[in-house]
Amino acid sequence: MAKIAKKYLEVNPWIITEKGFHPERSRVSEAIFSLGNEYMGVRGYFDEGYGGDRLVGSYFNGIYSETDINHPIKFKGVPEIWHFMVSAVDWLYTRIELDGELLDLNQSKVSDFERTLDMKTGTLTRQFIWHTQSGKQLKITFTRFLSMTSVQVGFQRIVLEALNFSGPVQVTSALDFSPVHEEIHNRSYWTVEKTEHRGDFWFALGKTETVEQHLVSSFSLTADCEYVSKDIKDDKLFGTQLEISLEQGRVATIDKRVCNHADKKRGSDGDSVWEAGVALAETFRELTFDAVLAEHAEYWEKLWKRTDVVVEGDDADQQGIRFCIFQLHQTNHGQDPSSNVGAKGLTGEIYGGKTFWDTESYCLPFFIFNNPQAAKNMLMFRYNTLPQALRIAESRDCKGATYPMESLNGDDSCVVWWHGNLEIHINAAVIYGIEQYRRLCDDDEFFYDYGMEIILQVCRFYASRGNWRPDGFGFYGVMGPDEMHTFINNNCYTNTMAKKGFELALAEIEKMKAEMPEKLLKLTDKISLASEELDEWRKIADKMIIPKDETTGLFEQHEGFFKLPHYDIDSISQEEIPIEHNWAQTRRYRYDMIKQPDVLLFLFLHSSEYSDAVKKINYEYYTPRCMHESSLSPSIHSILAAELGKHEEASAFYAYATRLDLDDYNRNTHQGLHMTSMAGAWLNVIYGFGGMRCDGDQLAFKPSMPKKWDSLSFRILYKGSTLCVKMDKKNITLSIDQDEPLTVEVFGKSIELTRQETSIPMPADRCA
Ligand code: BGC
Repeated sequence: MAKIAKKYLEVNPWIITEKGFHPERSRVSEAIFSLGNEYMGVRGYFDEGYGGDRLVGSYFNGIYSETDINHPIKFKGVPEIWHFMVSAVDWLYTRIELDGELLDLNQSKVSDFERTLDMKTGTLTRQFIWHTQSGKQLKITFTRFLSMTSVQVGFQRIVLEALNFSGPVQVTSALDFSPVHEEIHNRSYWTVEKTEHRGDFWFALGKTETVEQHLVSSFSLTADCEYVSKDIKDDKLFGTQLEISLEQGRVATIDKRVCNHADKKRGSDGDSVWEAGVALAETFRELTFDAVLAEHAEYWEKLWKRTDVVVEGDDADQQGIRFCIFQLHQTNHGQDPSSNVGAKGLTGEIYGGKTFWDTESYCLPFFIFNNPQAAKNMLMFRYNTLPQALRIAESRDCKGATYPMESLNGDDSCVVWWHGNLEIHINAAVIYGIEQYRRLCDDDEFFYDYGMEIILQVCRFYASRGNWRPDGFGFYGVMGPDEMHTFINNNCYTNTMAKKGFELALAEIEKMKAEMPEKLLKLTDKISLASEELDEWRKIADKMIIPKDETTGLFEQHEGFFKLPHYDIDSISQEEIPIEHNWAQTRRYRYDMIKQPDVLLFLFLHSSEYSDAVKKINYEYYTPRCMHESSLSPSIHSILAAELGKHEEASAFYAYATRLDLDDYNRNTHQGLHMTSMAGAWLNVIYGFGGMRCDGDQLAFKPSMPKKWDSLSFRILYKGSTLCVKMDKKNITLSIDQDEPLTVEVFGKSIELTRQETSIPMPADRCA
């Protein structure tokens, strides 16, 4: 399926630039120019307000509200409460007036507009010249960053330069709790309980509706110019208005230092959160814009040194992959064990800030190889929400634990209940993630102290959710990753992944019996696991039904899939896309077209178990049936295409994997960035062209080079070492940065890596 790019940004390996303001893209730009540091995130909205189309998105990880789903008819096991990350305080709030005219890029005359996201330093800068109705010209530059080292701190710098006049300008700077959550009733979910101007600081304490979490936001200002100020306040806004005397030829700089303290506890105590917020502001009293920026930039410099992916030969691809890496680090850098990665990160309100199955199946590998602490935190989120997973299983008349398809706090909150209740494959993704993390990061402690409990409770759920029939065990009335087929039976992906989960659980129990019997006893006592359950799991694993044509090796996505009417997806016009919105639901569900990889995904996740011939026949069958209506889709196709030596297809799928948001391929970037598909883009480079596989006993590489690239190099953290991989059309070169040698497999042969570079010739058929 051809997807068409909508390009308007400059191509540069490190910088994203919008030259000239594109009001018709204002929301797309807001998403692309988002900044975050895991603790909080802001869309790239205009500090000074904007009368045109915009979404003031300022989010805090884990800060949310709830509302009743209001199903007209209630059914058991269907969630009734919808929770969603709310837009919080706009701490960048600014208004600028000159000669009674309010600056608003929707109406004001401006020239020389340029907005720049510098991925090297994690800063956003926007500048333009304002031509007032009174004939004055004021050059304004806004810079902002959210510190990666002191995550509660954000800075804004406003630089004013009077180009053809001297005189006063009014600048209002405030904390505004009125930004709305558009999707749910288009209103703010905050009440402001207290405000205070104390010494150099302005404070405001907000409380979310229903969940009653508190957030204290505070700011102080420093300016290198003369001004007088007066406080301003209304229901949800508190701050100050400065009257600044500008002098022609002299630049005036105003720095706003913001400290935010958000307490995620439900029903937190406002007074103590206030005290903590005030104390925090005091702690950071001495921090200056320049000093914190220097630290922040140094953090990014080190991070890039460790995790950059360098593509030579195509700047657009280079920019695309760096943008993905940048946004992923901004969303999670291992700072808080209660954080996870929401499908849109902290860049938009669609998906409500919630985590789906893609955090384990797509995002986790990025963090495993780039920031193991962040990966562990994602899995600790699952452990910490195990109590809710147990309750959800019970509500669905099952045993054990089942994770919610979408959730920010562990509760089930999927309004599209047939997705939520039927997509039980999320549990297998969690098991897969735990196993990968343990093996690749050598964290047995996590595995046996936390992971195993999850695995056993999930197996228990699967055993109670499935059914026996004479030819084996299977899952009925489910939905696989392909969300175009619902209430299906024996989805290959779900059954395969669950089978692997049972096998892992059983093998690990045997291992624990032999090596840590006391720990095992404690665990089985804790969850009252009976030996009969294990006997049953053995039978289930052995007799799991996996629909497949044994003669060809073609997997049937689910029972009956091969008999569905065929639809030629190339006959679908661009206007009908996305068909999710343009076709009746019942029309989408009745053909052999699919939304995203299902069979192909498990062939990738358990790559070492399937031959090239099996991968090929399945790839060739499912690719022409795949609509790629999920942004998670193209990267997996590209990875398999690269493995199979279908270089042109691999490159074509890659083109929109990494630039999906930059070029708005799915026409929905305005809603927020596709964070999990950005992780998919990283997979695309490392597992696709880098040809890396990590599901076997050894890390393996079977690289290939796309035609337009001269070289690709990347680094990953592995077994305590940084593994450097460089490849071009002649060689693949690997080295590590530790003394102990490391054995990996390259083109099927074991190679011992050392600090010394090892080069292996690139076979001609691996280059496009
Ligand atoms: C995909 C799901 C995914 C969700 C959130 C949907 O479009 O089909 O697989 O979990 O987006 O990323």
